[in-house]
Amino acid sequence: MTDANSKTPRPLGGISLNFIPAAAGDVVAAANHSVAAGTGAPVEAPVVIVGSGPAGLTAAIYAARANLKPIVIGGVVGGGQLMITSDVENYPGFPDGVQGPELMGLFRKQAERFGALIVDADVDRVDLSSRPFGLWAAGVEYRARAVIVATGADAIWLGIESETRLRGRGVSACATCDGFFFRDKEVGIVGGGDSALEEALFLTRFATKVHLIHRRDAFRGSKIMQARAAAHPKIELHLNRTIEEVLGGDHVEGLRLGRADGTGEERLPVQGLFVAIGHRPNVAVFRDWIDTDEKGYLKTEGATTASNIDGVFVAGDVDDDRYRQAVTAAGEGCRAAIDAERWLEAEDAHDGEAAAQVAHSGVATAT
Ligand code: NAP
Repeated sequence: MTDANSKTPRPLGGISLNFIPAAAGDVVAAANHSVAAGTGAPVEAPVVIVGSGPAGLTAAIYAARANLKPIVIGGVVGGGQLMITSDVENYPGFPDGVQGPELMGLFRKQAERFGALIVDADVDRVDLSSRPFGLWAAGVEYRARAVIVATGADAIWLGIESETRLRGRGVSACATCDGFFFRDKEVGIVGGGDSALEEALFLTRFATKVHLIHRRDAFRGSKIMQARAAAHPKIELHLNRTIEEVLGGDHVEGLRLGRADGTGEERLPVQGLFVAIGHRPNVAVFRDWIDTDEKGYLKTEGATTASNIDGVFVAGDVDDDRYRQAVTAAGEGCRAAIDAERWLEAEDAHDGEAAAQVAHSGVATAT
């Protein structure tokens, strides 16, 4: 269940973690690292992982266990979307469910146990034109032989105050994650694309009634999904309607809708609102370097996590607009770490052969 920030005063579910200060001038030290940040010398690492959601931290666990001493530049607000999620009931291994922040605290603890260094800073610039790659965060320069980009994607929200206040209290951006909590309840879903149509149909498995609210008179989603939604007995369409307010004190009790032509408003008695108006991949600093698809997501090559730049790998929601689940992101983080490890091994083997050839030709010249 997505959660309001105000509901997570202990963002890591009470788990105590050692936060690494990242401002210029700090000395950053961890079991496997000793780096003087702010001395002007770049911080060097075989692998730098950008992002600390399920993809980034799983990549960190695998890379650390492969003795690659990864540095994770995890963001000022690390942990990804699960940090604003309360009950997670679909992550394997937690039969009684787990709180999102607690789960991310456990990911982080596990990565640190194997020596990953996690820096709570945002990457504000990268230079992927040559190796080692350059990354800058909070005034510190990092140099990496390989980079894993796991910066995730954020749901787009309506941006009204009542929506923000009631996130995790009936307002959600993930029907797959949270639909289950609305068994025998009436819910609203806003959006006119394939996500809204698909999620409206998904929600009919649980809800007694699904109100599909769209701001125009025509859907953007595919015709077949439109036909299915329109024909479903549990789905009621509300076209040319905008959501003016999510009603309720500490949980959703209804919606106040406005008519697009401004002729009045109406109320819907729902206990949940699903926002399905799109996602935005977090690609800002990478957009100029890594190829993106037509929707702005980073592209990977074939069945691997390799990007168009040799030595740069991509994992998680930043390249996935289809599944967007913590477990799929974690799986791809694992794949990216294995891809990076094998790539580094091949590079080392190649460098070794080149050095041997130079030595050999040197010996041949000398004799
Ligand atoms: P989308 O296609 O961009 O649709 C977003 C919808 O939200 C649009 O109908 C838009 O209205 C509406 N919207 C945007 N901002 C809004 C706001 N502030 N207030 C109210 N409504 C707002 O996003 P999506 O549905 O998440 O789909 C993303 C991509 O994934 C699409 O290419 C889609 O086809 C694909 N997808 C495919 C499948 C599938 O094949 N099974 C499933 C899900 C998604 P307007 O129409 O007025 O702009």
